[in-house]
Amino acid sequence: MGRNRFAFLLAATLMAMGAAADAADLAITGARVVPSPQDEAIEDAVVLVSDGRITAVGRAAEVVVPAGTRQLDARGKVVLAGFWNSHVHLLGPAYRNAGRLPAGQLEATLREQYGRWGFTTIFDLASAPGDALALMRRIGAGEVRGPRVLSTGSPFFPQGGTPVYARDLDLAADGVDPEVADADAGRNRARTQLDQGLHGVKLFTGAIVGGTEGVRLMDASVARAIGKVARDRGQPVFAHATDAGGLVVALQAGVDVLAHATPAAGPWSAPTVSRLVREEMALVPTLAMFEIEIRREHVPEAVVRRFVGAAQSQGSMLQAAGGSVLFGTDAGYIDQYDTSRELQLLAGAGMGWRQLLATLTTTPARVFGEDGERGRVAPGLVADLVALDLDPARGAQAFADVAWTVRAGEVIYRKP
Ligand SMILES: [Zn+2]
Repeated sequence: MGRNRFAFLLAATLMAMGAAADAADLAITGARVVPSPQDEAIEDAVVLVSDGRITAVGRAAEVVVPAGTRQLDARGKVVLAGFWNSHVHLLGPAYRNAGRLPAGQLEATLREQYGRWGFTTIFDLASAPGDALALMRRIGAGEVRGPRVLSTGSPFFPQGGTPVYARDLDLAADGVDPEVADADAGRNRARTQLDQGLHGVKLFTGAIVGGTEGVRLMDASVARAIGKVARDRGQPVFAHATDAGGLVVALQAGVDVLAHATPAAGPWSAPTVSRLVREEMALVPTLAMFEIEIRREHVPEAVVRRFVGAAQSQGSMLQAAGGSVLFGTDAGYIDQYDTSRELQLLAGAGMGWRQLLATLTTTPARVFGEDGERGRVAPGLVADLVALDLDPARGAQAFADVAWTVRAGEVIYRKP
């Protein structure tokens, strides 16, 4: 997908960076830096940060640390670009009425749920009206320290298609009806939300309504109308597809990112995978979420493995065919913020540590049109950085063992 499609997001990012211009200068020293999934490690490296941006990366012998620069000792640690969680939800009491919650309380929540796991950008794919905007405003103003927040705000459900599990989530608060009656209503709400400063739209092309109906599909013309509003502004279109029917609607609507694999549809066929790659549709597998959900049904372990295995095979097939896989956990919907299980299941699907690093850094930066700004440890890019205590080449679990997280040159998490 072309960068011009996300020009608006990039412009918003550049403005947000202006706010970080007063961040103190910083020198990260003694680290083993892996600049990107394609690069070899730089041993005993120095990373210089000025005004929230990386100004130099290199061997200690090659980079001069200006006198008086604040130093962050990273000896024994592996420093990588900051991670993206491309599927979270700012839901529940910790975020409801985020504009009025005490700053310290919000900061502690964000640190525990996201900073601790290395996230410097989180994409909220549905939350109660107003909460994500309020949080973005407070983080942008420097009042609350935390990851950069991108959000689709209120989701778009089919008419009469509020998912069974979403009925008590506050998504319909403040007079916003997440169900879309027709194409005009969808178009209008999409314009309103994007005008407010949100960063994309989330379509439930296949909504789990339960009962005898099971899954209700969004009308393809409605999905197309909403998707076009976002695309015309260079903003991404996400879909929750659920099954094969929802996947067809997502393809018809020109969706950019599948917010979940579709294990209910069984493994994908080769032509389906080719089509997803051709249409440049990225995937957030959310494997651990599927495992938690299917376990709630108290089914035999073989059924759990088959269901999660279908989702794993979709992720690995897409990756092998050259498609884009993004790391995302559905945290906030599931009460699981620890990224260990998701990493394990992705590794179990055959992803090596460099591929995992790509799902956390370069792939989201590219998919969301920010590869000139984020995703690598390189001069000129935003200083979003993570230090790990273990080498990820020795196992996926290392990505969940975070020593500290720096966003735009500011420490947002440090291991106690
Ligand atoms: Zn979700």
